[in-house]
Amino acid sequence: MALLTFIGAIQQVTGSCYLIETRDGTKVLLECGMRQGRREDEAHNSEAFAFDPLSLDAVVLSHAHIDHSGLLPRLAAKGYRGPIFATSATCELLELMLMDAAHIQEKDAEWESRWRARLGKPAVKPLYTAVDAERALGLRRAVEYGEPMEVARGVTVTFHDAGHILGSAIVEMEVHDHNLTRRLVFSGDLGNTCSPLMRDPTPLSEADVVLMESTYGDRDHRCTPDTLDELAEILAQAQRDGGNVLIPAFSVGRTQDLLFYLGQFYQQGRLPQQAVFLDSPMAIKANAIYQRFHEHFDPKDRELLRQNGVSRIEDWLPILRCTPEPEDSMAINRIESGAIIIAGSGMCNGGRIVHHLKHNLWRKECHIVFPGFQARGTLGRAIVDGAPTVRVLRQRVAVKAQVHTLGGFSAHAGQSQLLDWVKHFDHRPELYLVHGEVEKMKVLQQALHDRLQWTANIPEPGEQIAL
Ligand SMILES: [Zn+2]
Repeated sequence: MALLTFIGAIQQVTGSCYLIETRDGTKVLLECGMRQGRREDEAHNSEAFAFDPLSLDAVVLSHAHIDHSGLLPRLAAKGYRGPIFATSATCELLELMLMDAAHIQEKDAEWESRWRARLGKPAVKPLYTAVDAERALGLRRAVEYGEPMEVARGVTVTFHDAGHILGSAIVEMEVHDHNLTRRLVFSGDLGNTCSPLMRDPTPLSEADVVLMESTYGDRDHRCTPDTLDELAEILAQAQRDGGNVLIPAFSVGRTQDLLFYLGQFYQQGRLPQQAVFLDSPMAIKANAIYQRFHEHFDPKDRELLRQNGVSRIEDWLPILRCTPEPEDSMAINRIESGAIIIAGSGMCNGGRIVHHLKHNLWRKECHIVFPGFQARGTLGRAIVDGAPTVRVLRQRVAVKAQVHTLGGFSAHAGQSQLLDWVKHFDHRPELYLVHGEVEKMKVLQQALHDRLQWTANIPEPGEQIAL
């Protein structure tokens, strides 16, 4: 029998990584994600891989987010030269994500080396460089949704739309091993059926083993109309208070959803602000990729845009101002009110949002809106958890701005949506919960038991199962 090893995103939400090995010696790596969050978590990224990179025959990727793809440059740096299979939209987004990640690694190492030099300590090397990222990008192989592809001897992969971000896939993997064929389905990150632009996650019915994400396994998201009303109310209040609105958002996925909604407000006359700044070079480039793949959008949203006669986001939200250049970004710091600023990173542990936090977080008339999950150890989580002061760019800053979390904008399925997706499988395949914090997994495990009479497993890091 083939073996599956649970390497990463086990009882946590980042660092997705699973290894499939057949007795014939075929080895396929499913995901090569980066750990994100606390320093001690991120330290794991520089540890040796749990497998020999040279022994892998193929890598398969569900989507472009860094917690699923971020160690690919490191894999290439360690000698991997085989193919990396992903959907065509993921292949395009991957270029943005990996080059940006490499840039961050290089900058971080440069900064750390500088202060180490003052202490007479040797310089540190980045986790990987832009050259490594380019090498990994050279290994990409695009596969369309629904087209089976033999990625390595005896292993055939079919991608199905996961509805999470552009190009995101549920990975169906057929593993042939000594006359035995087993079907593994990895949910990847499953989309929220209420979120705009993306289609609903594809239901599948056949599998022997299912790995399902459980990021929001403990709760349902609020329905979108309520969340949108709340956002509209926050924007109106911020305008009355005379402050700015900061929205830390992932460049890929969340930002495009927000622009869609803000455009809707604009079209309905519900947007009191004078300008929406998209202060993220990566999000601006991601918009262009979303635009190119618009045929992947949910048909009803495409129809809405068509009815309004818009083909570009700039027409949908005419007060959108994109600021790719640093000078334009810094100019936003002088604006005291009437601006909505969308910038990365989504969890505030880097990126331009940090500069905007420094300028706005201490002002009680400003509003910070968190539209997404904040992992433990991040600046975003500290603010959400109500810290009276936080460290921003090596300075303590008081948190006086009004802080809002809007769970309804999640790009992840909530508990009921996870159950709705998984219940389509016939004959109760073996079910393993991955990509979630352990307390949330336990709540989901209980819900699966109570509502579907299905016993799900919570694997341990490094655990192996026979496929
Ligand atoms: Zn994701």
